[in-house]
Amino acid sequence: MVVGVLALQGSFNEHIAALKRLGVKGVEIRKPDQLQNVSSLIIPGGESTTMARLAEYHNLFPALREFVKMGKPVWGTCAGLIFLANKAVGQKLGGQELVGGLDCTVHRNFFGSQIQSFEAELSVPALASQEGGPETFRGVFIRAPAVLDVGPDVDVLADYPVPSNKVLYSSSTVEIQEENAMPEKKVIVAVRQGNLLGTAFHPELTADTRCFLCRHSYFLKMMSEVGEGTSSGGKGTSSG
Ligand code: GLN
Repeated sequence: MVVGVLALQGSFNEHIAALKRLGVKGVEIRKPDQLQNVSSLIIPGGESTTMARLAEYHNLFPALREFVKMGKPVWGTCAGLIFLANKAVGQKLGGQELVGGLDCTVHRNFFGSQIQSFEAELSVPALASQEGGPETFRGVFIRAPAVLDVGPDVDVLADYPVPSNKVLYSSSTVEIQEENAMPEKKVIVAVRQGNLLGTAFHPELTADTRCFLCRHSYFLKMMSEVGEGTSSGGKGTSSG
């Protein structure tokens, strides 16, 4: 089994190392024709504007969109999640090109800047059912995005309460609301839509091997469910 890892920028080496620990070969993808050699893809975290510029430079967007449309399994972590979203907000310097396909709106820097990065114990029921183990694992959030809304075909795998000391951004205007204005509000941090998986956090960076393996094995399991894809993915079949 060979998994492609978009290797323009960001934590692609960490993803390849994680796959290696699972006995899976990860290959670096930098050019459009290299996508023909793989049947699944991980888009790593990093900095999505930089990644988009590099993807544009290498003329990767059409091939990435085609890959997604063919229903091949694609997992975006953090900046990779932003790449996969149909819409991104919270961009100070205007828009950036997205691959799209994942029917959701993402706020690029919802949880703040580098110094506001954090780790948190998340509840992910899909992990318990997929792995037969506990459903909690530690999410590493680095300048992390959040999913603000999802379309009907998107399954929410994990959410996280908006911390009371954080401001909340509305999806359409990015206007800052009062602290604690919506104390019960949760934002979505992991989603799946058929062949597409998105996580706002970095499972490839955690020292918790169990979580690490769980996240990756969720993707590997998803790959076997989805196969090599033939068409644009609909709602994912969640097995158990
Ligand atoms: N918020 C970052 C961006 O806009 C992503 C951060 C990450 O991938 N760790 O690209």
